[in-house]
Amino acid sequence: ATRIVLASRPKGDATLDDFRTETAQIPAPEDGELGLRTIWLSLDPYMRGRMNDGPSYAAATEIGEVMTGEVVAEVTESRDPRFVAGDIVLARIGWTTHGIVRGAEARKLDPDLAPVSTALGVLGMPGQTAWVGLNEILKMQRGETLVVGAATGAVGGVAGQLAKRAGLKTVGIAGGSEKCAYAVENLGYDVCLDHRDPDLAQELEALTPQGVDCYFENVGGKVLEAVLPRMNQDGRIAICGMVAWYSPEGLQDPPTLPPVWRTILTKRLRVQGFLVFDHADKLQPFLDEVGPLVGGGDLHYRESVAEGLEAAPQAFLDMLKGGNFGKQLVRVGAD
Ligand code: NDP
Repeated sequence: ATRIVLASRPKGDATLDDFRTETAQIPAPEDGELGLRTIWLSLDPYMRGRMNDGPSYAAATEIGEVMTGEVVAEVTESRDPRFVAGDIVLARIGWTTHGIVRGAEARKLDPDLAPVSTALGVLGMPGQTAWVGLNEILKMQRGETLVVGAATGAVGGVAGQLAKRAGLKTVGIAGGSEKCAYAVENLGYDVCLDHRDPDLAQELEALTPQGVDCYFENVGGKVLEAVLPRMNQDGRIAICGMVAWYSPEGLQDPPTLPPVWRTILTKRLRVQGFLVFDHADKLQPFLDEVGPLVGGGDLHYRESVAEGLEAAPQAFLDMLKGGNFGKQLVRVGAD
């Protein structure tokens, strides 16, 4: 197998030197295990956190260890009676062309329902994150105004559309005019603002005369600074991620804490962080609702595809800076 390991812990922004490509012999699967050949690898912002040492909600990737990640793969050999060679599964084997997984930890996919790559995006972890954030954390209500950061991304793209369908006013914030146009024309946002616009805060103020009831926080940074003053009394913020601050360089000029804290108090905000893996029981309700929307073409999604496993590190670094347009995938092997 070819695989990509963590070569060093990033100092400042991650670079290509922090990754190394290796070849390795994959053993034959044992009882209860599956041999896999990767077709699609998902690249996700959380992987940047795993490159750092120190306490977090999940263990750091060790130096020399394969980069963590979910894949869609073909079963090449099955020692689990629930699977046969040729099945397509979702599994967590990381940045590798081949690997082994326990059958109990793989989920079989039905290629007739939707293209299997969607199990990593719109019908996978990012889509479920959007669903949980809106329904379980923000408890969105018809008629409210919602702001979504990284509005055209894997999570944001689903969040905006589900909220629109639920009758909210949706404001997207994304990087650049092309993404903003797509957000309005294809994802149904009522408006979309460019976070690189120096007048972002003033524009958001002008566009939200009724204030903001719900903020789906993916970004932090300038986006948070613009949204926070617009929050209505009793507003809710779901902290899903803060990608602007995933590299230490992004942290050089953070908003200071006292005014942030004061806003939470005076506006009586409810601010709640959440991790999608605590909501595994919502996978089925999410799929029941969003699966048919995707199958029927009523929910739009976009994928950015990098070709070949060796392209993964650069595609990953680009994604952290907005180089992706929709869900970032790597095509590792043929369908
Ligand atoms: P995206 O597809 O949204 O890709 C990341 C995007 O972040 C980029 O495309 C870019 O969009 C945006 N971005 C990067 N830097 C900045 C910046 N400085 N300011 C504003 N925007 C920036 O990734 P995902 O949809 O997979 O993830 C979105 C967020 O959700 C992340 O924070 C991620 O960590 C979080 N997440 C959390 C989960 C949980 O369980 N809590 C689960 C899954 C994801 P643009 O070009 O528009 O700026």
